[in-house]
Amino acid sequence: MLVAGAGPAGSVAALVLARAGARVALVDKASFPRDKACGDLVGPRGVQILTDLGIATPGAGRGSDLLAVGPSGNASRLPAFSGRCYPGHGLVLPRRTFDDVLRRAALSAGACGIRARISAVDQSADGTVRAAVTSDGRRIEAGTVIGADGALSPLARMTGMLDERESLWGFAIRAYVPAQVPLPLLVLMDAEAGRIYPGYGWLFPGVDGQANVGIGVGLPGDCRQAALRGDLSRFCALLRERGQLAPGAPVGPVIGGWLRMGGLGVRPASGNVLLAGDAAGLVNPLQGEGISQAMMSGRLAAEAVLVSPATAGSAYTDALRAAFGRYLPGAAGLQRALLNHPRATSAGVRLLTAPGVRRVFAGTWSLYWNGLADGAVPRPAAWAATAVQAIARRIG
Ligand SMILES: Cc1cc2nc3c(=O)[nH]c(=O)nc-3n(C[C@H](O)[C@H](O)[C@H](O)COP(=O)(O)OP(=O)(O)OC[C@H]3O[C@@H](n4cnc5c(N)ncnc54)[C@H](O)[C@@H]3O)c2cc1C
Repeated sequence: MLVAGAGPAGSVAALVLARAGARVALVDKASFPRDKACGDLVGPRGVQILTDLGIATPGAGRGSDLLAVGPSGNASRLPAFSGRCYPGHGLVLPRRTFDDVLRRAALSAGACGIRARISAVDQSADGTVRAAVTSDGRRIEAGTVIGADGALSPLARMTGMLDERESLWGFAIRAYVPAQVPLPLLVLMDAEAGRIYPGYGWLFPGVDGQANVGIGVGLPGDCRQAALRGDLSRFCALLRERGQLAPGAPVGPVIGGWLRMGGLGVRPASGNVLLAGDAAGLVNPLQGEGISQAMMSGRLAAEAVLVSPATAGSAYTDALRAAFGRYLPGAAGLQRALLNHPRATSAGVRLLTAPGVRRVFAGTWSLYWNGLADGAVPRPAAWAATAVQAIARRIG
């Protein structure tokens, strides 16, 4: 087996395969530990996978409730509920450490780590990939290939599984800044009076007093990469004004990355190739979370291969639909609607964060937009989140 990419999707896939006794090559172009642009917040479903697989993350912080601030400056505290199949908290660990922990676990289980950039595939006429070819000319042969090579997924492109124009793209940047952050903070701002900014800024707690500050946008066709740096500076100024960042706190180097969201524009399986994580475009279009989905899909891909390589593609496609099909398409539709109606969205967020109203909606907001309605413990907020999910799915 060949797993391309040793991020959370690839390392979990390789770990599950190797533990079952499969021969696995885990190929990544980077030398680990490596950095990755991220808010460093792993959601509850990802934490559950760590527990299931018995992977310890020493030094990780915990994140539970989240403070969502609206354009008026009012905030709603979104509660973290334990579900039937996930805990009531996420965890915080820099990706440089987190991804290294996962990759080491895969290697300890018996996967063979290879540092190489995959630059071509040797494909037979029926689409079967016989081998990956690396930029230094090596051929890595494999019966099954799991493409976990990130949002830009060279493998998805080379095998014709990605339609870029049909995909839903986002872009986000982040930096570390010294700050103590009691609760993860997510700020929805207006771009101009009464019109919502097409994304959000965040200030998440970190380890060793280094918080993670960033800003991300959903990109309905246009590219705002250059503008984002200016937006991040303005966002940091706003946080200083509100006392959430110290006046002189130095903002570290800024790095960024693409997000591919909503499961759109991509075939998750074709021939003997299965795509997992960002390569399969599984990022949540409403809030940009992708680590949990990467780990979940990596595990599902590996399990499908272990049952039968011959039927892995269809089994994996079904498993993805069962895991994400009730949420992702509706969330993608809702994201488009929100971005297309910036005035209504700004008014809606003001309402959701208004004193007196916010308590009523906070639980539903938390469960729905974090994709946690499925598997939630029955309570009014869970029923409401399930209803929102069903309506969004119908409209999306
Ligand atoms: C700024 C930012 C903030 C984010 N914040 C959060 C957050 O707080 N929480 C969250 O859950 N999600 C967040 N996300 C999304 C999250 O980072 C991704 O969803 C997650 O990294 C997906 O994991 P993955 O394993 O699919 O891909 P990746 O983590 O991108 O790993 C892909 C791997 O493939 C390797 N690779 C690529 N091309 C090749 C090649 N040709 N040959 C060999 N190897 C290759 C890369 O080196 C990389 O190691 C954020 C994203 C961005 C950009």
